[in-house]
Amino acid sequence: MGKNFKAELVACFGQPVAENPTGEMQEAAFRHAGLQWRYLTVEVPAEGLAAAVAGARAMGFQGLNLTIPHKVAVIPLLDEISREAAVIGAVNTVRRSGDRFIGENTDGKGFLRGVTQDAGVEPKGKRVVVLGAGGASRAIATELLLAGVADLLVVNRGVARGEAMVADLTGKVNGPIRFAPWEGVFDVPEWADLLVNATSIGLYPDVEAMPEVNLATAGPRCLVCDAVFNPPETRLLRTARERGLRVLDGLSMLVYQGVAGFQLWTGRNPDEQAMRRALEAAFGV
Ligand code: NDP
Repeated sequence: MGKNFKAELVACFGQPVAENPTGEMQEAAFRHAGLQWRYLTVEVPAEGLAAAVAGARAMGFQGLNLTIPHKVAVIPLLDEISREAAVIGAVNTVRRSGDRFIGENTDGKGFLRGVTQDAGVEPKGKRVVVLGAGGASRAIATELLLAGVADLLVVNRGVARGEAMVADLTGKVNGPIRFAPWEGVFDVPEWADLLVNATSIGLYPDVEAMPEVNLATAGPRCLVCDAVFNPPETRLLRTARERGLRVLDGLSMLVYQGVAGFQLWTGRNPDEQAMRRALEAAFGV
């Protein structure tokens, strides 16, 4: 029998992209599954996206990840997008079906899986505060609404952006979502079951930055979650942990969005532990 020297290809397109660690975990998952697949981390500027996607089609890529600044711009270049990606208005994962490229969004799903699996919290019926109104917030809020949360308060510095997000999601998903502007220090409501930082505050290199929130007003059962994964323990999570609150780090969201991507591309279940270990090694934890 002849040997197969041909690899199946997946790539992440972004700019900047050099510090994106996703390739470490996907390559680890491919190795553990014994798959002859490669994950390429590729710098693609905004004006090069259409050519890069056309190139990926021509080379028979099995899938893509998109990161800044391509998550919205990629949509018109695809053949179809999933319902969740349409609601969120952004695509982070592309899978191939025959010769069609289909856009998905696995960020919110990854977050939800971390909440249920790693923190043991069932979102249905819970009351949630999400800080931020950017792409990560939209993905998280959409999946929380689809999962049946009882109350979702979006808190954002930019009022126009926060109001637009809430109006848009209200129109697309029928759910209990509302907005409050972020003025000064935000007192975490006693009723909040989940507090989610979906802003970029605390992201490397600004590791001493922390969202202006008062955790002293949070209830004892509040789960504090961070979308920021670099560093894995943000100052927000450290502070919450020191207060005796339960925490969920952004690595879990990152691992599980990657797990969902692996499943979409290969049709198989990856070794999730191997993926998490590869990421932890990349961050030196
Ligand atoms: P966006 O740029 O789309 O949104 C950023 C949000 O942060 C906005 O709501 C912005 O508010 C807010 N913000 C930024 N700086 C400040 C500040 N100093 N004070 C108050 N608000 C601030 O980013 P994304 O939504 O794409 O990403 C957010 C974070 O989530 C990033 O750190 C990213 O790495 C992380 N992420 C993690 C994932 C994971 O798998 N763990 C997946 C996707 C993202 P305003 O509107 O007022 O400007």
